[in-house]
Amino acid sequence: MSTNSQNSYPLPQPTGFTKKFWDACQDKVLTVYACKNCDHTFLPGGPACPQCWSPDLVSQPVSGLGTVFSFVVYQRTYHPAIPAPYVVALIELEEGPKLISNIIGCAPKDVEIGMSVRVHFETKDGFLLPRFTPLNPDNKSEG
Ligand SMILES: [Zn+2]
Repeated sequence: MSTNSQNSYPLPQPTGFTKKFWDACQDKVLTVYACKNCDHTFLPGGPACPQCWSPDLVSQPVSGLGTVFSFVVYQRTYHPAIPAPYVVALIELEEGPKLISNIIGCAPKDVEIGMSVRVHFETKDGFLLPRFTPLNPDNKSEG
């Protein structure tokens, strides 16, 4: 066991159900799972569609655009590799599915529910993780 292991970044441990998602992230592609039976899209991966229970699923690329559905600001450091403050957010993707990630590229105090964000892949110990950054940091009402 490495003596540095407690300080290294805690990376995801892909399983059979989540491996396609994490493999696509390593190519900087954000994906969701799509049901071939009812077209429902969802995250995270699992053995069956949560809407119709079909096991016939495919991995499907998405735009990487979304909005902040909810968030919390961590003011305390729980892991030495993840210093506070940082934002953990529930992101609602443009295509519908939601995922938990971090908001980076702006101060935690500037994060708002409903804020438009886009995916940004960040490298931690050689592994690409999907984070989200503000889409229009200087003009929230653009469009
Ligand atoms: Zn389905």
